[in-house]
Amino acid sequence: MHAHPEPSSFSSAQADAAAAALANRGLIVDRIDLHADRWQPVLDRHEFPAATDPFKPQAEQMRAVAAGTLASDVRHDLDRLLAADLLVLSFPLWWFSVPAILKGWIDRVFVVGATFGGDLGLFEAAAFAGRQAVLSVTTGGPPASFARGGAFGAIEDFLYPIHRGVLEFVGYRVLPPVLTYGPAHLTDDDRVEALHAVSEAFATIGDCVARTGDMTVTAQSYP
Ligand SMILES: Cc1cc2nc3c(=O)[nH]c(=O)nc-3n(C[C@H](O)[C@H](O)[C@H](O)COP(=O)(O)OP(=O)(O)OC[C@H]3O[C@@H](n4cnc5c(N)ncnc54)[C@H](O)[C@@H]3O)c2cc1C
Repeated sequence: MHAHPEPSSFSSAQADAAAAALANRGLIVDRIDLHADRWQPVLDRHEFPAATDPFKPQAEQMRAVAAGTLASDVRHDLDRLLAADLLVLSFPLWWFSVPAILKGWIDRVFVVGATFGGDLGLFEAAAFAGRQAVLSVTTGGPPASFARGGAFGAIEDFLYPIHRGVLEFVGYRVLPPVLTYGPAHLTDDDRVEALHAVSEAFATIGDCVARTGDMTVTAQSYP
């Protein structure tokens, strides 16, 4: 899953490098690009035609799961997630978090009643227990800014809400993130080296078995 508005960005090149490395392992890579898909990120009552007043988003999600009436774009991406052993969330760090389009994808696709809650529990009892997830991130700031005690603060602190509050919450085992700090400030050679490091990381990441039928969700490829 990739969330950068520019196909020629470094973040998109990083997503491509990750996808290529995973495919080279014999894994099936299913790629979602939120901008290419023109993903609608706002969770509101319009996707629940049968919503009652007052609108209660999680109650409507539960009802839509039970009735089989989830919005088609949500159902489509949810089914792809449920088929995947490894989820890669690929994005540039925006305001110390995920871009809004990705936050909205999480709001809408990590549906209560289908990914956690209802007949499911939380964390190890949630839908993605036994699956793995990893963040593939670029930043504007350099490594020193994201060191503990650095100007921004520790990168682990910013990623914790995504790791614990989103991915582990729905059952994923979270793998160490793959990060490129400040690609805009690197030399051309260093950017090539950084992409090589990303390829190397994804060549071994996780414990997926390289066989047909394994599924990995990661970034969209670009022409
Ligand atoms: C709204 C917003 C909020 C932000 N908040 C934060 C924040 O909280 N913290 C923070 O640290 N940063 C923040 N940033 C900065 C952002 O994280 C970085 O700009 C971004 O992660 C850099 O990645 P990019 O892909 O966009 O870089 P780009 O500018 O697209 O790429 C960097 C360079 O790499 C080159 N490149 C592209 N493809 C390749 C390739 N295949 N090989 C070699 N070079 C290539 C590009 O041509 C460019 O010169 C924010 C940015 C925005 C827009």
